Amino acid sequence: MNRVRLLVLNAALGPLDYSVPEGMRVEPGSVVIAPLGPRTVTGIVWDEGRLPGRAVDASKLRPIREVVPVPPLAEPLRRLIEWTADYYCAALASVARMVLSSGGALGGPTTTTEYRLTGGTPERMTPQRLAAIEALEGEQGTIRELAGIADVSEGVLRGLVNQGVIEPVTVAIDRPYPPADPDFDQPALSPDQLDVAKRLVQAVEARRFAPILLDGVTGSGKTEVYFEPIAEAVRMGRQVLVLLPEIALTENFLVRFEQRFGTPPVLWHSSLKSTERRRAWRAISEGTAQVVVGARSALFLPYAKLGLIIVDEAHEVSFKQDDGVRYNARDVSVMRGRFEDIPVVLASATPALESLHMAEIGTYELMELPSRFGGAELPDIKLVNLTEEKPPSGRWLSAPIIHGLEDRLAKGEQSLLFLNRRGYAPLTLCRNCGHRFQCPNCSAWLVEHRLSARLACHHCGLETAPPKTCPECGEGDCLVACGPGVERIADEVRDLFPEARVAVATSDTLGSPERAAEFIAQAEAKAIDVIVGTQLVTKGFHFPELTLVGVVDADLGLEGGDLRAAERTYQQVAQVAGRAGRGEKPGEVLIQTRHPDAPVIAALANGDRDAFYAAETEARRDAGAPPFGRWAAIILSSEDEKEAREAAVRLGDTRPQRDDLYILGPAPAPLALLRGRYRYRFLVNARRSANLQDTLREWLDAHDFPPGVRVGVDIDPYSFV
Ligand SMILES: [Zn+2]
Ligand SMILES: [Zn+2]
Repeated sequence: MNRVRLLVLNAALGPLDYSVPEGMRVEPGSVVIAPLGPRTVTGIVWDEGRLPGRAVDASKLRPIREVVPVPPLAEPLRRLIEWTADYYCAALASVARMVLSSGGALGGPTTTTEYRLTGGTPERMTPQRLAAIEALEGEQGTIRELAGIADVSEGVLRGLVNQGVIEPVTVAIDRPYPPADPDFDQPALSPDQLDVAKRLVQAVEARRFAPILLDGVTGSGKTEVYFEPIAEAVRMGRQVLVLLPEIALTENFLVRFEQRFGTPPVLWHSSLKSTERRRAWRAISEGTAQVVVGARSALFLPYAKLGLIIVDEAHEVSFKQDDGVRYNARDVSVMRGRFEDIPVVLASATPALESLHMAEIGTYELMELPSRFGGAELPDIKLVNLTEEKPPSGRWLSAPIIHGLEDRLAKGEQSLLFLNRRGYAPLTLCRNCGHRFQCPNCSAWLVEHRLSARLACHHCGLETAPPKTCPECGEGDCLVACGPGVERIADEVRDLFPEARVAVATSDTLGSPERAAEFIAQAEAKAIDVIVGTQLVTKGFHFPELTLVGVVDADLGLEGGDLRAAERTYQQVAQVAGRAGRGEKPGEVLIQTRHPDAPVIAALANGDRDAFYAAETEARRDAGAPPFGRWAAIILSSEDEKEAREAAVRLGDTRPQRDDLYILGPAPAPLALLRGRYRYRFLVNARRSANLQDTLREWLDAHDFPPGVRVGVDIDPYSFV
């Protein structure tokens, strides 16, 4: 029977049946274009009997229009799509969209036009043209890219094209990537490192599913160690995926990769141009992209012969996607490894409690790198009790940190101050009437950013110029900043040490790979004395001259109702502490806190990771929290407050009554208004044995929500706002 069922890329539709015309060959996984009303839709031919749906009478079937010339999605990937949709209560089509995430790869042109210098000179040379020609020496790209490089208008370059100074060249978009050489540079590994590297190589050779937790202190050389199994997979002709949490900060990684393999890896992230996306997607699907380094979305690409997955900094919260399909790339990586039957390495210096638990019960294999490489010692950690060492009013740095900074400045060493708060101040108010500046779209304060002279909402992205007069009382020049952000700490350092070169490192200042690279180059060249940064600086940096880390407010992360607050604080502070003393000089870490006796703070001070994890494990066990129980969040939202509330109350009235799960709510979500939508929340706590997803699906599917109400389900949530 030449009838197939398609998973179409339209979540509103569900699976649809089509006929296969005479002479067309399709198989499960084939990507096809099919008619839909007067238009067409992209679909994936699915395995018979695996998608629910009503059989349409054969006479009514419409024929598939064409098969897209890309390799069919392999069976392990089809099973992963099903598993992800099922586990995260998401639409199959939404997951499939993440696989076919390059529209250009499925069609579109195969060549593009780029431009380069011919060596000729223009009839009339102007200073601007001369500067452009000098800047473009050896460069090739689109007119827009070249205009960016030369810092001139596109018109100037078009003028040079007309005069034959710049010429167009046709470039094949799908040209192959240069091959990685697994033996380009043999690293010198310590005995500990060699031992772990050997075990990882064996796991790759075995070609079997093996989840591995690579647990190594910061500075232990995890990256160099996992380069060895990557090299082995390349030798075997198999592909490797390396997931990194923060793609803007891959510079250091890319340099090390190129030193080891003689060529950069294939990159995948959201700021790729569409032609680059097409090139990468096709090379991945054909198996010619050997090592892919990407953000979490790279996990769903159609690798032709995947042999190894590495999730670096696997504890990072940014692996959890918070909109659309709310998946956790760390957990889905393990599932992909299972379907593909390959090893998956979760690497971290501060593993998630869930991962450690899996290692403890033997589900994951544990490999440890206990010491720092090259004899560097772990830093000396001290607490600064802020109730005793109180900074003056309007100041945030205590005497011990100020002395520490003074000492490093005198010795020409670097310091890092960590505060996980962007901007100048988290709250701005009117001195005269006390009016607080709040986002009109969200229940959140506007954050003052002095560098960009803006008040910004960190939830919806709204930005406004600070008003000259108070909108409430009309008083002029009356705004006061409350509390510190990194910009304010940087000001305090400049005020204390006018000669110090201070850099603010946040997603605002290091938002692009270029800016991140520039910052790293400056820090390495010792052109920066004091770095003031958010959690962005807890990752991946390696500055040998950095010997002091000051944590401005270790208590900050403990506020709020996040069940992982203690763990996250531990991870952030431990990671940032790990930036100190990575060279030959020993490092010192000063942690400012008002709660020196809190278990997480005490564990940090004593460097007693095991004690922290043990205490946290018991707390989670008592609370029925992961890994001992499970959580889910359901958020109902609407632009109309009453509509959202009533829908939530109605849903609450039919809550399932079960012994193995209980449901809290509905209650206004902590962020009761977000991007103009009012939000009501249910929190579900379930035993591990409960069938959480089916219960939720049954409960929600029995309801017809008004069209203005959106329902979001978040399984294993990380965000509790
Ligand atoms: Zn006022
Ligand atoms: Zn907002």
